[in-house]
Amino acid sequence: MTLIDGRAISKAILEAVTADVAPLRAAGTTPTLAIVVPTDDEATAWYVRSIARTAAKAEIVVRQIDLHEATADELTAELDALSADEGVHGIICQTPLPKGVTLDQVGQHIAVAKDVDGANPQSLGRLAAGLPAFAPATAQAVVEILQREQVPLSGTDVVVVGRSNVVGKPAALLLLAENATVTICHSRTRDLATHTRQADVLVAAVGRARMLGAEHVKPGAIVIDVGTNPTEDGQLVGDVDTEAVEPVVSAVTPVPGGVGPVTTALLLRNVVAAARA
Ligand code: NAP
Repeated sequence: MTLIDGRAISKAILEAVTADVAPLRAAGTTPTLAIVVPTDDEATAWYVRSIARTAAKAEIVVRQIDLHEATADELTAELDALSADEGVHGIICQTPLPKGVTLDQVGQHIAVAKDVDGANPQSLGRLAAGLPAFAPATAQAVVEILQREQVPLSGTDVVVVGRSNVVGKPAALLLLAENATVTICHSRTRDLATHTRQADVLVAAVGRARMLGAEHVKPGAIVIDVGTNPTEDGQLVGDVDTEAVEPVVSAVTPVPGGVGPVTTALLLRNVVAAARA
């Protein structure tokens, strides 16, 4: 059984990203990511600091815009201004959003060319149509991990549990583009285990701590656990009961240290791609 090392994959991606930044900077372009923080939220602040630290190592500039409980109009005006700002190559807007504001509304104000975390519904539409677009970095991380672990995807039976626009749906689309045979499960799926036990590759993107156990996996399956669920004692656990599935599966991503670090690295890779475009 392999515990897939997301930190090692992240490090390899970031080395390549850093190498790509040098010639861009030499040519006068400093890859710049704008992170809009619309509400005062401690977990968000921690996450933004973590992206900024990683970006600094890759010589990517992070411009953090704290809006302190913004109204919908203030938030969309800021995103419009950043979309028009030639010094900004990538834009992300952190959740949680102000009350009454949806991610779809906000995403529409991020220019598609700068939409490095696939928040604009147009980006998802382009992805579905097979056109070039940035996918959400977490969905990209699922495929990147499988590719780097040399898991063949063409013709493979993949089950994705979760159908959100930020993870499940784009992950399924990216896997489909790799010619996997993709099944998407969700809260209305009848007898979830019947589906997940068919999976050569199981992707868990539910948001329920340790929901998937040994009865949900096929012997030898590869499991990508996207879930990040805080526990009462301040730990972070995935959607998969890792200890329970370990004797059955051939590989699983840990939480933390799996999908999360790869997501950050790919977000920064997207910024560099946007700066190069
Ligand atoms: P979400 O918007 O809440 O979506 C959850 C999905 O799971 C929905 O499609 C829902 O189905 C489905 N679901 C809920 N209960 C279910 C059940 N009992 N059986 C089967 N499906 C069920 O969450 P999300 O934003 O996609 O995030 C999913 C998880 O990934 C969360 O833990 C989140 O923290 C984590 N995440 C991690 C990263 C990272 O970088 N590692 C990034 C983003 C998110 P319905 O559509 O029918 O409601």
